[in-house]
Parts: sequence; C-alpha cells; structure tokens
Amino acid sequence: MSLVEVRELTKIYSQGRSEVRAVDGVSLDIHSGETLGLVGESGSGKSTLGRLILRLVEPTSGSIRFEDLDLLAANSREMRRLRRDMQIIFQDPFASLDPRFRVEDIIAEPLIIHGSSERHGSVPARSTASNRKARVAELLRAVGLDESILRRFPHEFSGGQRQRIGIARALALRPKFIVADEPVSALDVSVGAQIVNLLAQLQRDFGLTYLFISHSMPVVRYLSTRIAVMYRGKIVEIGSTEQITGRPRHPYTRSLLEATPEVTV
Ligand code: ADP
Ligand code: MG
Repeated sequence: MSLVEVRELTKIYSQGRSEVRAVDGVSLDIHSGETLGLVGESGSGKSTLGRLILRLVEPTSGSIRFEDLDLLAANSREMRRLRRDMQIIFQDPFASLDPRFRVEDIIAEPLIIHGSSERHGSVPARSTASNRKARVAELLRAVGLDESILRRFPHEFSGGQRQRIGIARALALRPKFIVADEPVSALDVSVGAQIVNLLAQLQRDFGLTYLFISHSMPVVRYLSTRIAVMYRGKIVEIGSTEQITGRPRHPYTRSLLEATPEVTV
C-alpha cells in the first residue's frame, strides 16, 4: 500500500535569466513501512524532492498524495495533521538545533506547538508540563540518550549525539513518515553507522516509513527496501535494493555502484 504517491512533480528555480529544473517530472510511490532510498550525486535534486513531498517547498507542477489526502489541495486543518505525520531529519546536526535551547526544550517544542503527544488516544489529549517531560524522557531513551542531559545545550554534544537529539525531536509527534536528508553525511563512518542502525531500530519499533536520502550507494543499500536513482532532476531507475545493486539497468546507476567501494555499516 502506498503511503505517498508522487506524480509528474516538477520544481523549476529561476536563477537570473536561466532556469534550473531541480525536480523534473518525477513520479514514484513510497510504500507503507518501507525505506525508499534516494541516491544521486550532489545537485541532482534529492533535497528538493524530499522537501516538496513534505510541502516545505511549493512545486511548479504535479501532485502529491499522502494517505487519502491531496497534499497540494489540503486545507489548514488537514495540513496541521500532515505536519504531525511527516517529519524531516537534516544532514547537519550542528546547524539544525537552536543553540540557545536546552535539550528538553528542543525536543518538547513540537509537543508545545501541536499541543499534545497523543494521537487518537482515549486519554485526554492535553500537553501538560509533566506529561511533556515524561514524553521527552521516553524519546531520549528511544534514541539511546540518557535523561541526565535534559538541561544541557547542543554545543556540549558530539555530532552523533546531536543527530540523536534531532531524531528524538522528529519522533516527538509520533510521525508515520520521515524524510532523512543525508543524516549521516556529516558524521564519521563509525558514528554514521550507529545512526543508521538506530534509524533501522526506530523503524521496527514505531512502524515508520522512510525516504532516506544519500549521495552514497553503500549507505543507501544498507537501509533501503527499494532504491530510486536520481540524475539531473529525474528518477532514472527505481527498483528493489537487490535489483538496483545486483542488476542495474541504467548506466548512471552502474557508475554510482563503481564509484563507491564496498563498505560495511
Ligand atoms: P541535492 O540535494 O541532490 O544535492 P538539490 O535539491 O539541493 O540537490 O538541488 C538541485 C538543484 O536545484 C541544484 O542545481 C541547486 O543549485 C538548485 N536549487 C536548490 N535549491 C534552490 C533554491 N532555493 N534556489 C535556486 N536553486 C536551487
Ligand atoms: Mg541535498
């Protein structure tokens, strides 16, 4: 079953007199519970596609469905629901956490903005300070961090720990779908491997669906159920991880596989 359906999606940026077709007529489905890897060289349009799907960027044309909703026609009440269901994890954990906020405030902020951590529970859906605190502690445990760090600031942490804090924040509203945009590209290989393993664990624990973006085929193949290969704004090939890595059809896919040595994560 498709959680996300993208059809003929296009984003054109004007740069002075010239135009960049950052995303050029992309159609793809993301199935419930899968990790769709999105791989391609820098500038191929991966981040733009991820942001379009979250409606952080407005498309030039095309359509996006999330579950039963037409994203581009959603009213403000529907958009509010969508904002909870869809989250993003960024590449740079140094830039994405507000340095003036303590860890507890960074993770609790989405709960405050959206009022509640409860989805459809029978429990009264109120975000009191005490149940927020319990939820933040629960989220820290889920990403392998200790409650004792609640009062500390982002600069006190390493890149890997910051990425865990960013992931805890992304999970706060119990999303169904997460766009992870190069989440390990700024990290050392071994730290990146731990984050990739954490994402896999969280997917099992919380039934998440991922769009996992990376320029690195070895990283993408480790986590992905299926892989979409992007080149100059277009998806040139999409298939199971086994097919893409074992029997690539497109020359660009082959060049990506050759460019990247086998690494174990
Ligand atoms: P990737 O994530 O694969 O590196 P991007 O989606 O960031 O690719 O960029 C795709 C293309 O769109 C690039 O040529 C980039 O320069 C251009 N682009 C991205 N964002 C903008 C923007 N806000 N304004 C103008 N051009 C942009
Ligand atoms: Mg990018």
